Amino acid sequence: MPMTPFHFGPGAAVKAAVPRRFSLSAFVGVNLLIDSEAVYYFVTRQYPLHRFLHTYVGATLAAVAVCVLVLLFTGLVRAFGHSQKSAGAELLPMPIVVGAALGAYSHIVLDSMMHTDIRPLAPFSDGNGLHRVITLAQLHWFCIISGIIGIAGLVAGCVYRRWSRR
Ligand SMILES: [Zn+2]
Repeated sequence: MPMTPFHFGPGAAVKAAVPRRFSLSAFVGVNLLIDSEAVYYFVTRQYPLHRFLHTYVGATLAAVAVCVLVLLFTGLVRAFGHSQKSAGAELLPMPIVVGAALGAYSHIVLDSMMHTDIRPLAPFSDGNGLHRVITLAQLHWFCIISGIIGIAGLVAGCVYRRWSRR
């Protein structure tokens, strides 16, 4: 973590900027999967909390897993004859890959700035050159402000599309 929802802020901003090229569902899914690791070790009181899934190698595998799951879900939706049009880019292959990859790597970058127990480059190195390159307050404000900008952009996009359809 930063608390998992903080990770969604930058994702919302990217979705608002390039809605057709980015799956926010895949972005959120991979962030939840990666932080399920920290939650599990927190609940079972085993330290460190940030292990394999909080490395670039583990996050890459998490992104692949989320891509496969979302694409399987998309296949099921299609197999049952439902239209994917209403989902827009959320269920298209390329936006899913972009969303999952950005979700995974942004998660590791943001957590690397925050946590002392994360080893993002393992098994190749125990180093973490990003730790506290900015303050925790700056990190949280970055997530919050990008989230506010993202949500405002998404709402404005919805309003614009409805208005332009008239
Ligand atoms: Zn995390």
